[in-house]
Formats: sequence, C-alpha cells, structure tokens
Amino acid sequence: MAPAGRRRVYVVGAGPGDPELLTVKARRILKEAEVVVYDRLVAPEILAVANPAADLVYAGKREGEQETVQAWILEKLVEQANAGRLVVRLKGGDPCVFGRGGEEVRRLRELGVESELVPGLSSAIAVPELAGIPVTFRGVSRGFAVVTGHCPSNDSPDWASYARIDTLVILMGVGRRDSIALALIAAGRDPEEPVAFVERGSTPEERVTISTLEEVARGNVQAEAPAVFVVGRVVNLRCELLAALEPALAFPDRGIPTPEFR
Ligand code: SAH
Repeated sequence: MAPAGRRRVYVVGAGPGDPELLTVKARRILKEAEVVVYDRLVAPEILAVANPAADLVYAGKREGEQETVQAWILEKLVEQANAGRLVVRLKGGDPCVFGRGGEEVRRLRELGVESELVPGLSSAIAVPELAGIPVTFRGVSRGFAVVTGHCPSNDSPDWASYARIDTLVILMGVGRRDSIALALIAAGRDPEEPVAFVERGSTPEERVTISTLEEVARGNVQAEAPAVFVVGRVVNLRCELLAALEPALAFPDRGIPTPEFR
C-alpha cells in the first residue's frame, strides 16, 4: 500500500451509508484527509469520520449540470493536490460502479496528478444483502448483473440481453421503474417474477417494498430514490433469511412480514 503521500488524490468508496461499512483503509485515509470532495449520496455520518480539520467540499450534481460540475470537481482536485494537500474524492458505494471513479483517475493522470482508487462496498450487493436478499444463492441464482436504469434515451440498456440473467440489480432505476419492468417483460422475463425496491439501505430510514414485475409495469408500486431495484427469485429468500438473523436486525416494525415460526 502506498503511503499517504502529497499531491495524491484518493478516490474512495464510502459504502452504502452506514459508517461501520467503511473499509479500514477508507477510514484511515478520511482521518488523514485535508480536503474531502464528496458526492450527494455520501451520508453525514460518513463525513463525521473525516479529520475534523479537513475542508468538506460538496460536489453533488443535479440533472443537466453534470458536465459543468464534473469539470469544476476536477479543477478543484488538481488545485488542492498541487497545493500539497491530501485530497479525498469521496463517493457513495464503490467509486467504479456508476461513480465515474475510473474516468476521474484517467483525467487526473492526464493532468499530471497521481491518484489511487480505494474500493468501497457497492450498494448493488450490500443493500439487497442487508435487506435479506443475497444476489446469488445455490439453486436459485447462478449470477447477477448490475445495470443502470438511468441513461440518455438514445443509449438505454438492451433489456433483452438482461432478460435471462438470474438476478438483475438496477441502480438509478426508480424513476423509470414502470418502463423498465415493461421492457423486461417484453424481453421475456416472467411477469410474476418477484421484485424488491430497497430504499436508503444500511441507514435507519431503510424501506423495503416487495412486488412483482407485472405490478411495477402497471404503475402500481411506489418507490423513492435512492433505491436498489432487484429482479429475480432471490427476492423470495428474504423472509427466510431475515428469520435467520438476530430478531433485532429483522426490523419487525418496518412492515417486514414476521416469519410464522418465530
Ligand atoms: N457507486 C454507487 C452507485 C452510484 S449510482 C455504489 O456502488 O453503490 C447511485 C445509485 O446507487 C442510486 O440511484 C441507488 O440506485 C443506488 N444506491 C446507492 N446507495 C444506496 C443506498 N444506501 N440505498 C439504496 N440505493 C442506493
């Protein structure tokens, strides 16, 4: 592991929200940071871990301003690294799962600034898991794909190619959930297939909604971003797995059905 040197930008994954799910390395670097440039999905509890003397710079992007903000972020990272400060570019989940981590590292190199990627726990895997939904399970799901539900209209995913993947994990898919469900059914997925929306996973505001593809396609399922949209038979394992966890972890007061044998 490289020492925390000067003129280096650490592109760090913050995990899904719970500070206990930060990696040991992310925590150490945050404690040493002098500047933290963070994204919209980074929770205040995570920022609270950072060196109290560090400058915290918000770099959230709204629809339509992504490119301007992205250019500003890079400028800020380069300026601060060149001033000899230890800079952390902090992103939700893993920096390279729809986080532009790879892009930023490439641009920084072009601009003459050294950087290092520090992986984080991606919401794509951790958020369903915390809700009792494992992305693979022997005899139920042999594999999974993680896909974005948010793309320019001329570049939307080829849903037909995802129709046969056992578990489909869709990020940024809440806004277009109805059309995504329709497209998946049209591409051959069973309309009765179970789906889950896990909102704000790993935080005290976690909310889980279970339904079927058909109900989502009909517009009957409410969900709010940020949420992980999971499609596949693994969703049915939820009750069973929650029952196997500590009762305190099963959040019985949050609308999760209590297994009969408890
Ligand atoms: N790099 C991130 C993903 C960025 S895309 C990662 O690896 O997790 C942003 C999307 O991630 C959100 O729209 C949502 O689909 C998902 N997401 C991130 N954190 C989440 C959380 N705590 N709960 C539910 N969904 C989350």
